[in-house]
Amino acid sequence: MTYLDYAATTPVDKRVLESMLPYFSEHFGNANSLYQVGRDAYHALEAARETIASGIGAARPSEIIFTSGGTEADNAAFVSVLKRIAPDGGHLITSAYEHPGILNLVISLGKQGYDITLVQPREDGLIHADDLAKAMREDTKIVSIMHGNNEIGTVNDVKTLAEIAHSRGALFHTDAVQSLGKVPFNVQDLGVDMASFSAHKIYGPKGVGALYLRRGISFDSFLKGGGQEGRRRSGTQNVAGAIGFAKALELCLEEMDAEALRLSVLRNHIVNRVTSALENTQATVSGDMLLPGIASLLINGVEGESMLLQLDNQGYAISTGSACSSGSLDPSHVLLAVGVKKEIAHGSLRVSLGRFTTEEDVDGFVDALIPIVEKLRAMSPVYQRYFGKESS
Ligand SMILES: *Cc1c(COP(=O)(O)O)cnc(C)c1O
Repeated sequence: MTYLDYAATTPVDKRVLESMLPYFSEHFGNANSLYQVGRDAYHALEAARETIASGIGAARPSEIIFTSGGTEADNAAFVSVLKRIAPDGGHLITSAYEHPGILNLVISLGKQGYDITLVQPREDGLIHADDLAKAMREDTKIVSIMHGNNEIGTVNDVKTLAEIAHSRGALFHTDAVQSLGKVPFNVQDLGVDMASFSAHKIYGPKGVGALYLRRGISFDSFLKGGGQEGRRRSGTQNVAGAIGFAKALELCLEEMDAEALRLSVLRNHIVNRVTSALENTQATVSGDMLLPGIASLLINGVEGESMLLQLDNQGYAISTGSACSSGSLDPSHVLLAVGVKKEIAHGSLRVSLGRFTTEEDVDGFVDALIPIVEKLRAMSPVYQRYFGKESS
């Protein structure tokens, strides 16, 4: 199999797995126990917290709260903070192309009495400062705009967006799950109050992530229990997971510059080959505000699922923003939000590259894709009618 869906999840790097293994066996202790095996686990957990804090430029390790992943961090940033700063309602802002971990949460808060505004990205796939400024109100409590988008790969100017939120007295959160370890991300340089991360997008294990919570922000955890994580996230900590997460981040940061260059060359190679070999195809977005490893392609007149299944038959794992894959009737909310028409969005492909992707992988993928698209188009009366040679 050739795996080209690194934005969905990544394999655990062997070096990460090795760092974790002792914490399932000889160092199995509960990090909250006072005897030796517990203290060992505690010290390892705190070392992992320090690694992650310094990796994201946090001022203090205590600003890192380990969670079960990106989705929990996203939920905590709103629910646990709103319980303190605005329990009775107020105005919340996010963007229309967030990951469901934020978007569906904010929509549900809207049904619970908060006023919500969804800022639309522009056609360049970015949230513009003017548009956020217009959405701000006197009673805006939290603004959450993602750093790197998981479907189209655009990277927002979070520093400017955070300044706008702060100038109107709101807190600023960013979902940095997709950008961590891939492009520079420093909570103090960017001036964010909260940020969400997940290990499994950076060659760490699934089911562990973190919330950066700047010191001084009131927080009343929505998870009640034993009061672990400084009373901010109850439940026995996933020590091995936290250690794997820290190791994964360390490796990504060491290799980041070279890897970003390597992957953007491969990404551009895919886009160039596909768009020159097949007419009526394009990259969803372009420009330099892009994550290195994500190629979002629009292939007119072909269903994303059809391409996905045929590529799967040939051993290639990729994603589509087309409808059926998500179990709904509408294509990806991200593509629609950046102004892609429904018919066109149905023919979208997301190819995402990572640490183990080679040039042969991407050439093999393009070699497989081209005849699949040609065959599907030849069988499609719709394509023949609207895009085919006869009509042009
Ligand atoms: C994967 C992802 C999440 C969710 O993280 P989980 O650890 O899978 O819960 C949130 N936001 C973005 C942008 C993601 O890509």
